[in-house]
Amino acid sequence: MSHLWFYRLQTVIVFSLLLAAAPPLRAQEPQFSLLIKGGHVIDPKNGIDGVMDVAVADGKIAQVANNIQASRAGRVADATGLYVVPGLIDLHAHVFWGTEDNAAYSSGYSAVPPDSHSFRSGQTTLVDVGGAGWRNFPQFKAQVIDRSRTRVLSFINIVGTGMKGGPVEQNLTDMDAKLTAIRIRQYPELIVGVKVAHYGGPEWDPVTRAVEAGREAKVPVMVDFGGHTPPLPLEDLLLKHLRPGDILTHTYAHVGGRTPIVDEQGNVRPYVLEARKRGIVFDVGHGGGSFLYRQAVPATKQGFYPDVISTDLHVGSMNSGMKNILNTMSKLLNLGMPLNDVIRANTAKAAEVIKRPELGHLGVGAEADIAVLGLRRGTFGFVDSGGGKATGDQKLEGELTVKGGQVVWDLNGISHTLWSDMPVGPNARRNPASR
Ligand SMILES: [Zn+2]
Repeated sequence: MSHLWFYRLQTVIVFSLLLAAAPPLRAQEPQFSLLIKGGHVIDPKNGIDGVMDVAVADGKIAQVANNIQASRAGRVADATGLYVVPGLIDLHAHVFWGTEDNAAYSSGYSAVPPDSHSFRSGQTTLVDVGGAGWRNFPQFKAQVIDRSRTRVLSFINIVGTGMKGGPVEQNLTDMDAKLTAIRIRQYPELIVGVKVAHYGGPEWDPVTRAVEAGREAKVPVMVDFGGHTPPLPLEDLLLKHLRPGDILTHTYAHVGGRTPIVDEQGNVRPYVLEARKRGIVFDVGHGGGSFLYRQAVPATKQGFYPDVISTDLHVGSMNSGMKNILNTMSKLLNLGMPLNDVIRANTAKAAEVIKRPELGHLGVGAEADIAVLGLRRGTFGFVDSGGGKATGDQKLEGELTVKGGQVVWDLNGISHTLWSDMPVGPNARRNPASR
């Protein structure tokens, strides 16, 4: 064998080894699984409010920048003319659904399945408030949380058996601060607060025990106040019992047994303003009976907008004036709350209230929970919980929702390929939202 042949053989071997070790050609492998192009990004936590592209890889936000090349992504959604915001968080929902008789919002017929309501309205996180108590939280987890694609978090009820209605929720002996705190510490990734609701007696005990549990487990307390006989003063709740960071829900309600925040002269009560200054969080909690324009109009005219905008979703509210989170947010938008603040209330602010700062923003590395919203212009009607109507010229609509990098809702197919460009033959692609 000549030296030349030997040299050539060596070259071939070295070259073959190099080829075998080389990574696959990058050009055929998109860098991003999804690119949302040309939308107006509102990410209040990161101070972004302008047209930008959002790229997703490995289920996380990979890049937020101008003019990211479409060829770098496996799937592109055209969001021109739409708003791109962090996946919405609903701080007050009832999703512990089940088929137990006389169980109301705690494995009963009054709660709804999370995935059937969340994604179509841009929501990626629903917080069930009070459905489960420390006794039946494991059932809630197995029955609902573990089976849902929506991120479901919980404020557990100070009542051990949760929100089953009737005498169950009046049982002071089943309101145990210590056991509630123990349960919260067992599931810190899922239980983010304590809920008080529906107690009709003259005592402060449900509130004081919930606050005690909250203090012990370092989580906030949400109070659905009212219905006490004799009535308990709202001023004492807001200024004496609750801590900064605790939440009053049903802010714009006027129901029997609870003092409304706007007085008979149409002014927001001074102690309500003082409570806001000391850090009490005011939540909408619209529901079936807790949002009246007679409260919301004067309050917002005086600048008293909510900190967080939630639905109080259940079988009653969803088919009445509340409808869904976007309809509820649209009400505030038409009452003059700036769009950026409306989005903040359901993203960064909601995440801050539940002490989950990793949620509610589009920072690089965050889980890719994204809502693409349309803002329709026209004449729209909005109904309050008393049956009164207001009109407005703006309405938010859920166009595209992404949860953990997966498209889970796409109203007009903006992330889909034209049918005539699809491969011929049997269905090659399952709907990514189904499983
Ligand atoms: Zn509720």
